Amino acid sequence: MVDTLITNGIVVTNAGTYRADVGIVGEQIAQIGGSFLRAQTVIDAKGLYVLPGGVDVHTHLDAPSLGMMTADDFQTGTVAAACGGTTSIIDFCQQSPGGTLAEGIDNWDKKALGKAAVDYGYHMLIPDFHDRIADELATLPGRGITSFKLFMSGKGSAMIDDQALLSAMAKARECGALIMVHAENGDAVDFLQRKFLSEGKTAPLYHAASRPARAEAEATSRAIALAEITGAALYVVHVSCGEALEEVVRGKQRGVNVLAETCTHYLFLTTDDLDRKGFEGAKFVFSPPARSRADQEVLWRALRNNVLETVSSDHSSTRYHDQKQVGRSDFTKIPNGLPGIEERFILLYQGVVSGKISLEQFVDLVASRPARTFGLAPRKGTIGIGNDADLVLFDPASSRTISNENLHHAVDYSAYEGMRVRGRVVSVLLRGKQIVRDGEFCGEAGYGKFLSRERVEV
Ligand SMILES: [Zn+2]
Repeated sequence: MVDTLITNGIVVTNAGTYRADVGIVGEQIAQIGGSFLRAQTVIDAKGLYVLPGGVDVHTHLDAPSLGMMTADDFQTGTVAAACGGTTSIIDFCQQSPGGTLAEGIDNWDKKALGKAAVDYGYHMLIPDFHDRIADELATLPGRGITSFKLFMSGKGSAMIDDQALLSAMAKARECGALIMVHAENGDAVDFLQRKFLSEGKTAPLYHAASRPARAEAEATSRAIALAEITGAALYVVHVSCGEALEEVVRGKQRGVNVLAETCTHYLFLTTDDLDRKGFEGAKFVFSPPARSRADQEVLWRALRNNVLETVSSDHSSTRYHDQKQVGRSDFTKIPNGLPGIEERFILLYQGVVSGKISLEQFVDLVASRPARTFGLAPRKGTIGIGNDADLVLFDPASSRTISNENLHHAVDYSAYEGMRVRGRVVSVLLRGKQIVRDGEFCGEAGYGKFLSRERVEV
């Protein structure tokens, strides 16, 4: 006797694809294949893939961005995640400037409590690093937070120097945590921003021009060198281009413990999107910026060759009609970021449709590897007995056009508006409970639980 039986579906894991029924007892997967005598609830998955729920390890919900707050909070953001096929997120919990890390965590707990519709963990985002904060880092793994993010750009605000990065890396190594960096050379970006503004070049396109691939590659290479010197484990967030990826590959070849991700937008958008008519380019302002078609191909190949760990959304949503408008006469004032928490899963699946990655690789990248990398496995990210019953029933035969009207986030645009995509998330279960039915959210805000994460092996 099981509580829920998913029958007639095709189970896909990163290791293979096979026809099997899946039985759920309570919050866990209790049986895969074999015969089932009885079930309280039967879900017919005829013609559908049964996939592990997506794991998105890079989101910013209810977060400050250039003096404003993101449009999505934990409720709208996680409902959108669920409808898109994602059942676990790792959000960036932020220290307030001048504040302690503990205060940042308490603050994030308040934002998530009663609102999260999917399970969530935190990375610690540290915009104000100093000696006392360095000492506080060691307390974070005890609270289930085993990754710390620092900025190599953002001159005059969050940017840290090499000395601070070295000290954070040494501490992270001591306490079994991963260092994450936003890798762009902040001095180079600042220099170019000032130059363009002084020449009257204020349009969104200059956001990309002021953040060249070499500035990203230089910072990536430097972070990897510092990780090599300290013996720390490093995770480079949002790798956008071939030049930065080259540095990651070189680091791996030297034996440095360096991991990296790319994001949905680097696989589908280009610099040309920043040059759309009027001020429309502001919708595509995020850092590092969108690059070229050639870079997209390099990133897809890196996914195919298992060089990158995952594709995250870096969901950081601000509305176009009011929030993005603040930068109308100065591209440096446009709040950075774009929505994508709901689109990530289906867009990465397009790599399967076009033959760039296999179906099993898709499952690995969208769920299994990010779960393993960030200390959530085996509970999350794969379909196995005893694991959380986080499942997506996916129809590979249907297709649709992405339209903001059909998305569930609280922002007034999708960067992928009008894009035709194959496949559809039909149903989603989180810990055995159905939270999406026929593409619509049927769960409840507050059902999402905090994910305390394991220390990383360094
Ligand atoms: Zn981010």
